[in-house]
Amino acid sequence: MRVLITGITGMTGSHLADYLLTRDNVEVYGTYRWRSRMDNLEDIKRAGRLNIIGEGSTVTDVAVLRSLVAEQGNPGKVNLVEGDMMDPYAMKRVIGAIRPDRIFHLAAQSYVPGSWAGPAETIQRNIIGQVNLLEAIREAGIDPLIHIAGSSEEYGLAYPNEVPIKESNPLRPMSPYAVSKVAQEMLALQYFRSYGLKAIVTRGFNHEGPRRGHVFVTSNLAKQIAEIEKGLRSPVILVGDLSSQRDWTDVRDFVRAYWLVLEKGEPGEVYNIGSGVARQVKDLLDILLSMSQVQVEVKVDPSRFRPSDVRLLLADASKFTQLTGWRPEIPFTQTLKDLLSYWRERV
Ligand code: NDP
Repeated sequence: MRVLITGITGMTGSHLADYLLTRDNVEVYGTYRWRSRMDNLEDIKRAGRLNIIGEGSTVTDVAVLRSLVAEQGNPGKVNLVEGDMMDPYAMKRVIGAIRPDRIFHLAAQSYVPGSWAGPAETIQRNIIGQVNLLEAIREAGIDPLIHIAGSSEEYGLAYPNEVPIKESNPLRPMSPYAVSKVAQEMLALQYFRSYGLKAIVTRGFNHEGPRRGHVFVTSNLAKQIAEIEKGLRSPVILVGDLSSQRDWTDVRDFVRAYWLVLEKGEPGEVYNIGSGVARQVKDLLDILLSMSQVQVEVKVDPSRFRPSDVRLLLADASKFTQLTGWRPEIPFTQTLKDLLSYWRERV
């Protein structure tokens, strides 16, 4: 079966690619942009399992790309095809050439604070990008299973008597990013109802691990500690709001869940995925600091506060776990240990 991952160069996409390489009978394809950083695919490249289709050639036609995929596609490797979600023609080429059986749609502007800095760009990229993908699927006349990566941020404001959060909770988005994810979800469900596209939506609670972008809080704190250890910055850790609570899962557990979404999920349905444990950002910082010998001062940086922060995200993922039997297996401390090692190797 052919599986396409949009956003394969990101944290989750790259771990999903690692996971799919371990499965039989799965041909892995992924989209990248010409300026995408390939760092997250380094392990796959080092293992000799990265294949960039049509590298260096200018492809403007679906038939040309289809023949390149037929000539160069390698079932044992991760096959990359260039395509920016914002370009409807590029999406039509990619989908028309690969004709995937399954699609994991992960590509997005995924950083909540970035969506306050650039609301219009986030809205365009996440919503129009997905319209381009869904229309390309319709035009190709294929009938793939499609996973849409929604987010727990869609719930936004949840009152203490509304947690743990079920799929039936109200959606009260608190950022342009969250609004874009609600719209992605609504579009997916509308295409399911209008055209029968087999879209399944997840509302993923936070997932973390090696390759997490350095702006996200888990990675940011781990990176600062690694820099202090190497004497690259003074022993002062800058933090935002340490009291927010999140439900964190290891990304390597998460990609197993994503696979199960398309194995066992129902098209037109929405599933929460999360661990069911909420921790404060302060707990995360304390665990990271306990893994290091450095003595640090923790300093609040007001610029790190959000215009409206989601205080508490805690998943009730029972709909998904009862359907699939999925449970997170990697302890949070292991996730943080691996994340810190990741940054120690890189700073
Ligand atoms: P990352 O930011 O690590 O990855 C985002 C990916 O999207 C990158 O591969 C990026 O490519 C790609 N992308 C962005 N814009 C475009 C575009 N215009 N065309 C093509 N590709 C594009 O995110 P994550 O891996 O953390 O998240 C994956 C998905 O899961 C996202 O949709 C995110 O919103 C969602 N999600 C994530 C959660 C988390 O805790 N991690 C929680 C809930 C949902 P490039 O390398 O070129 O920039």
